[in-house]
Amino acid sequence: MPVETPTQTWAPKEYKSDLKPIWCAGCGDFGVLNALYKAMSMCNLDPENTVVVSGIGCSSRLPGFVASYGFHGVHGRALPIATGIKAARPELNVIVVGGDGDGYSIGAGHFPHCARRNPDMTYLIMNNNTYGLTKGQVSPTAMVPMASLNSKIDSKRWKTTPYGMMEDAINPIAQAIAWDVSFVARGFSYKPNQLAEILAEAIQHKGFALIDAFSPCPTFNQDQTDDFYKDRTYDVPEDHDPTDRVKAFELSLRNDGYPIGVIYKHEGKHSLLDEQASLRARFPHDTQTTVAKLFEKFQ
Ligand code: SF4
Repeated sequence: MPVETPTQTWAPKEYKSDLKPIWCAGCGDFGVLNALYKAMSMCNLDPENTVVVSGIGCSSRLPGFVASYGFHGVHGRALPIATGIKAARPELNVIVVGGDGDGYSIGAGHFPHCARRNPDMTYLIMNNNTYGLTKGQVSPTAMVPMASLNSKIDSKRWKTTPYGMMEDAINPIAQAIAWDVSFVARGFSYKPNQLAEILAEAIQHKGFALIDAFSPCPTFNQDQTDDFYKDRTYDVPEDHDPTDRVKAFELSLRNDGYPIGVIYKHEGKHSLLDEQASLRARFPHDTQTTVAKLFEKFQ
C-alpha cells in the first residue's frame, strides 16, 4: 500500500496518541485498537503518511487515539470521505474505522459502491450488534429474539425493542462477498494477535478490504458478550481457498458459528483510482482543468 518505503521503523506503542480512550471498562474496542497498533507496526506504516477516517459512534472515536492524521466525520459518511482522500492523495495509507450501525445501516448505501470502486484502503468495522453511543438501540446486526408468549419482557435490556427484534440481522460477510469487496475477513477483539495479523494482511492487500471484528459492548448488549463469541467462533479451516468466491460464500452462510480469518480475496480487481490514473495518462490535456474553469462553463 505505501508508495514510499520508510527508512525508520515504528513500534506499536509509537502509534498511540496522547489522548486516552474513554470507552467503558471491558469494551471490545480496546482489543481492536491494540490490534490496529500492532498491524500498523507490522506494516511499518509511516504515521505522517497515514490517515484514519471514521464516522460517528463509540468506535468512531478511534482516530483520536492514533498518532497519525485523522478525520472524525459524520454519521455513515466515512467511506466517501476516505475515498476522496485516497483519490486526492493516492500515496497515503487510508484506514477507515467505525461501528456496525454507522457502516451497515446509516452508511450502508456507500458500501456496495465503494466495493465497485475498489479504492486501495482498509475498512475496519467494530461490530457490537448495537448502537452503543446512543445507549443501546438495535443495530442491523443485532440478534434480539422475539418474545414468546411465555417469556418475560425485558424492557431494561433492550429499551427500544422490549418485545425483541422484528427484522432479521444482516450478514455483512455474505453481503460483502456478493458485492465483490476485494478482501473480506472477520476478526474478534478478544483475539487481538490474530486480529492484528488479519489487519496487516488487509492493509497490504491492494484494493478495498473489509474486516468485520466482533467487539462486544458489555454496557448495552448483554446477549452478544465475549463469552457468546468465544463459544461460537472458530478459525477459518486451513484448506479454505479464499480466492474461490463460491466456497467463500458458502463459508459465510454456514450456521454452525462464525469463522475468523480471511474468507474472501479477489486479487487483481480493477480499481477506480487505477482507471483514473490511466485516463489521465491517455488524456493529459484534460488534467489541466481547474475547478474555476469548470465553473466558467456554467456562467
Ligand atoms: Fe464500548 Fe458499549 Fe461503552 Fe460504547 S457503550 S464504549 S461500545 S462498552
